[in-house]
Amino acid sequence: MTERVTGGCKCGKVRLEGTLLDAPMFRCHCRDCQQLTGGGHSEMVSLAKADFQMTEGYSTYAMQGRSGRSTFSRFCPTCGAQLTRNSERMADRIYVHAGALDDPTRYAPSRSIYTDAAQPWDRASVIDDTAD
Ligand SMILES: [Zn+2]
Ligand SMILES: [Zn+2]
Repeated sequence: MTERVTGGCKCGKVRLEGTLLDAPMFRCHCRDCQQLTGGGHSEMVSLAKADFQMTEGYSTYAMQGRSGRSTFSRFCPTCGAQLTRNSERMADRIYVHAGALDDPTRYAPSRSIYTDAAQPWDRASVIDDTAD
């Protein structure tokens, strides 16, 4: 079953489109996400890299992920919206920020990652997946 989703940035310059992977949607509390989003965590949806498409005009910021491998953040240089994250470690997928989806109600996070880095003021948003 393939479910397509579309999205883009605030100003409309960059558009994206892809297929939802049968993978958990998750909240990432790592320090990179805090610094890049300006908030406590990222809300991420996993799409297949194979047929992912994004219009030109975005910028890429490369950094070292916590795994030690390169991670890339793509964003709109005009409005500053964070769009995607991808890494060498999970090379078959693209993570899209849930708020960038045209229909953000598609997002249903089931877990939190890097919860050790969660800020005290963001603890309430940590999804406890040790329960199951
Ligand atoms: Zn934009
Ligand atoms: Zn993160």
